[in-house]
Amino acid sequence: MSTETENSIHTAGGGEQGSRLQKRLLAALGAAFILAAVLFLADARRPQFYMLAGKEIETALGEPFEDPGVYAVLTGRVFGEGKRRLPVRTDGAVDTSRPGSYELAYATEYLGREYRCTRRVQVADKTAPVITLQNREEYYVNWLEGYEEEGFTAWDNADGDLTGRVTAVRRGESIVYSVSDAAGNTATAERVPVYTVGPPEFRLNGETDVRITAGFLPYEDPGCTASDRYGHDMTDRIRVQGEVIPWRAGTYELVYSITNRTGEMVYTVRRVTVDAVPTPDPVEPEGKTIYLTFDDGPGRYTDKLLDVLDKYGVKATFFVTCDQPDYFSCIARAHEAGHAIGVHSASHVYDEIYSSEEAFFADFRKVLDMIAEQTGETTAICRFPGGSDNTVSSFNPGIMTRLASDVRDLGYQYFDWNVYSGDAGGKGATTESDTVFQNVTEGIADKKVAVVLQHDIKSYSVDAVESIILWGLENGYTFLPLDPASPTVHEKIAN
Ligand code: ZN
Repeated sequence: MSTETENSIHTAGGGEQGSRLQKRLLAALGAAFILAAVLFLADARRPQFYMLAGKEIETALGEPFEDPGVYAVLTGRVFGEGKRRLPVRTDGAVDTSRPGSYELAYATEYLGREYRCTRRVQVADKTAPVITLQNREEYYVNWLEGYEEEGFTAWDNADGDLTGRVTAVRRGESIVYSVSDAAGNTATAERVPVYTVGPPEFRLNGETDVRITAGFLPYEDPGCTASDRYGHDMTDRIRVQGEVIPWRAGTYELVYSITNRTGEMVYTVRRVTVDAVPTPDPVEPEGKTIYLTFDDGPGRYTDKLLDVLDKYGVKATFFVTCDQPDYFSCIARAHEAGHAIGVHSASHVYDEIYSSEEAFFADFRKVLDMIAEQTGETTAICRFPGGSDNTVSSFNPGIMTRLASDVRDLGYQYFDWNVYSGDAGGKGATTESDTVFQNVTEGIADKKVAVVLQHDIKSYSVDAVESIILWGLENGYTFLPLDPASPTVHEKIAN
């Protein structure tokens, strides 16, 4: 190499020197060509499409469609995007008069090869149907007569006649019509009423929410008036639905309504709450206790019974009836002597008193009145004829369950018994004083608290009382009258 360099320095000039330069130029040209070819191949130039507005576009039904356009340019890896746009051919068409999906294909050529791309165009129904109301949009109507539809049509650009699919609903005072086309475009229209007689407006007399305490007397509603906005009185058209049961705690709703000729109803509501009268919880007495109770009196043996009780200073309880007015004064005497007086039944006729709550409480109130007359006081204790677990009432299913709750809502405590004397038939039935004594004392023997049932209209039962008192006192029992807080010895209700 060094030799050749020396040669070139020392042999400058001449023909040999020119041909060497030519050779070098050719070699450089060859190298440049090879480099250009390599770069060209590496560049891999090909047409590239640019789709304006994207591959998928939507256009509205019935609107003219204008292709947003596609252009193609040669693009390579090394030299990037060229400046010159290639000619692009478009195949396919979009029919905007029919909803659907259309394809447009774009093509260009380069080096004898075809390049393609496609675009999808959705022709969508974006126009809502049109509802046309017949006659007028405002109608003049007497609310009481009601409105009769005057007719309407609905037309859609894509679906055609949609009249049959229109729904008309009341919204406030207006009628709102609506319909949707297959593409989900919804149209609404509205008729605004102009009334000659308007819908009623209610005014409740008294409070909207009424509170009363449970009692026997029917609830007296303060009433309600109604008139329309022009002052037409409609009160006599009010219908009241709902009932307040005065002896049953709870919240009741009274609905006042007016319905027009086409069945449209306007209403208002009043709430009535019936509060229970509180009753004390039972308290167990301290020592061994006998509660002597006598049902179905007063009668001809009641005075004699009161004499015996007086003799020993024993206080008992009388659940009384209105059966024998001649002996009502015994109740005054019993009360005076410190015995408890409770409600039993005026008539004691099961089929009557258990036929309904109304019948039961009508009978119940007769006894209350009689007791008040005789004692000057009211009472808060009672005993159901037949006991709370009776099945003599089963001709009226559930009545004992309702009454047991009702009497307590009214503030009365009801008492059953856990010792039965057998003096009025049934289990251990007898008409002998000795057996009454035996039934009662045997019944008491295993109990700390005994509530004994006897009847003071049975002579043999009254005759057994002195022996029962003596037995009780000898065996360490205290005799007490019932009061609302005494043990109730409730039986399981069977109806
Ligand atoms: Zn009875």
